[in-house]
Amino acid sequence: NRQIHLASRPDGEASSANFRLVEAPAPEPASLAVGQVLVRHHYLSLDPYMRGRMNDAKSYAVPQKLGAVMGGGTVGEVLASRHPGYQPGDKVVGMGGWQEYAVVDAAQPGALRKVDTTHVPLSAYLGAVGMPGVTAWYGLMKICAPVPGASIAVSAASGAVGSVVGQLARAKGCRAVGIAGGPEKCAYVVDELGFDACIDYKAHADPKSLYQALADATPDGIDGYFENVGGAVLDAALARMNAFGRIAMCGMISGYDGAPIPLAHPALILQSRLRVEGFIVSEHMEVWGEALGELAGMVASGRLKYRESVAQGLESAPDAFIGLLKGRNFGKQLVKLI
Ligand code: NDP
Repeated sequence: NRQIHLASRPDGEASSANFRLVEAPAPEPASLAVGQVLVRHHYLSLDPYMRGRMNDAKSYAVPQKLGAVMGGGTVGEVLASRHPGYQPGDKVVGMGGWQEYAVVDAAQPGALRKVDTTHVPLSAYLGAVGMPGVTAWYGLMKICAPVPGASIAVSAASGAVGSVVGQLARAKGCRAVGIAGGPEKCAYVVDELGFDACIDYKAHADPKSLYQALADATPDGIDGYFENVGGAVLDAALARMNAFGRIAMCGMISGYDGAPIPLAHPALILQSRLRVEGFIVSEHMEVWGEALGELAGMVASGRLKYRESVAQGLESAPDAFIGLLKGRNFGKQLVKLI
């Protein structure tokens, strides 16, 4: 059972030296205790929040322990079970971590969930029909509160969360504008995902030019803004907000590796009478059932599209994770284990 442990905490940018590949013995079915399930992982999810957990700082999430398997979402197949709710062959989603196999105490609420792969591929349960999808659903539906005809904008628009935000907004009758890094990602957001427009923030290093591009793409201003990035992109969006607009503060990835993320014009929040709300998706379990049901239906019927960046093999996880923090992924970042 190969595993990746956190070897040291980053000082500034995370690097591959912060991780260690460890060969542990494979768990034996015969050694399972009552209630335990042995899962072979097919995919591991890499997510930006993991960077925060690598620090030993006060946050909403407890820090990742040093010398222990990196935590993370996984999908896989049950190999052996001593829990009546799970049979060998069942496909499951859990928090198995950066390793090839996991022994899960399935009696623990939320530890494991069976999934149906008839119409939704297994890997999608880590993306559009998983935590990132619910994140998009919660921030858009509960904070941005979209009404038909409203103007919705989202940053990191080609990514796991952002791609769902814009497509959901379109499905609710809104105009959706994305902000993403590079012409390829922007073309995908408009041509494949059906957003109304997408701004390549990397083509606008000057804040005035970025603002003008966003202004051209949002002729009626922005009613709801879904923030994943922070920094210059947030400054431009703030300046385009309509009075009484809403901002869902979902992520600030441009600062996760230690870069400062100042806000240029905080007075705009007051002047435009904005409602700005941060949220953590795992604290809103009450919406997961409804959100996952809607997202699964949309994926199964082809109305919700998504893209994946798949790294091969557990050993590729650290570099793929570092790449995610630098925007090298294009869509949901996964690691394929078998
Ligand atoms: P993505 O699939 O969107 O991948 C991350 C993307 O962020 C990159 O592809 C890149 O896109 C962009 N990015 C990376 N570094 C920078 C940078 N320095 N400046 C600007 N953009 C950058 O990831 P997710 O969809 O999984 O997550 C998106 C956001 O949602 C993150 O901020 C994450 O922390 C947050 N999140 C919050 C949750 C919550 O409960 N609040 C739950 C889940 C996610 P590009 O090339 O377009 O710049």
